Parts: sequence; C-alpha cells; structure tokens
Amino acid sequence: MNPPITFESLREANHQRHQEWANGNDLPLSFRGVELAGEVGEACNELKKLERTRLGLVGGKTDLTGLQEELADVLICVDLIAMDLGIDLASAVQDKFNATSEKYDLSTRL
Ligand SMILES: [Mg+2]
Repeated sequence: MNPPITFESLREANHQRHQEWANGNDLPLSFRGVELAGEVGEACNELKKLERTRLGLVGGKTDLTGLQEELADVLICVDLIAMDLGIDLASAVQDKFNATSEKYDLSTRL
C-alpha cells in the first residue's frame, strides 16, 4: 500500500511528471484552465449518473469509483495550476478555510 499523500508529495509528483509529460516546457494557463474545466465537467457527469441511478431514470449508470477518479483529476489539475504560479496550495487552503469559518462565525479551523 502506498503511503498517504500530502500537498507536498502531490506537488513533487506533479512536478516530476510534468518533466516527462511536457519535457519540462511551460504550458499556457489557458491550457491548464481548459484542462481543469474538462475534469470538473467529467466529475459533474459522474454526479449526473449517480443522480440518474438515485432517481431511477434510464441511461448510463456509474458508481462512486468514477466520481472518485474524476475528483482526483480535479485536485491534480488544481495543483498543476498552483505549481505553475508558485502558489503554496496547503497554505492557500488553510487560509481560505479559516477565513470562511471566521466570516460565518464557525469554530472549526485548519
Ligand atoms: Mg478525468
């Protein structure tokens, strides 16, 4: 079994795979944005199929595996954008999570 990942290990793996995938060449943010939108669309399609099953509608069905894979793709794409722009995603998530809790007077903090 693989060790649990962290934001840092995802970033390192994304950086390493980018060297293989694109020979280390910079990709335009427009490509990254379309890539992310595509993966969000794929995740939404999996949600649609799950809802179709729940509502008893005819059409293609899926299980949680498909959604799990697409949500993973979304997260990977988000990290690729953050990588390209030098954003520390762990800090960004922590700051934003805590700001939202503070805004709505909720006690949960990261
Ligand atoms: Mg996908």
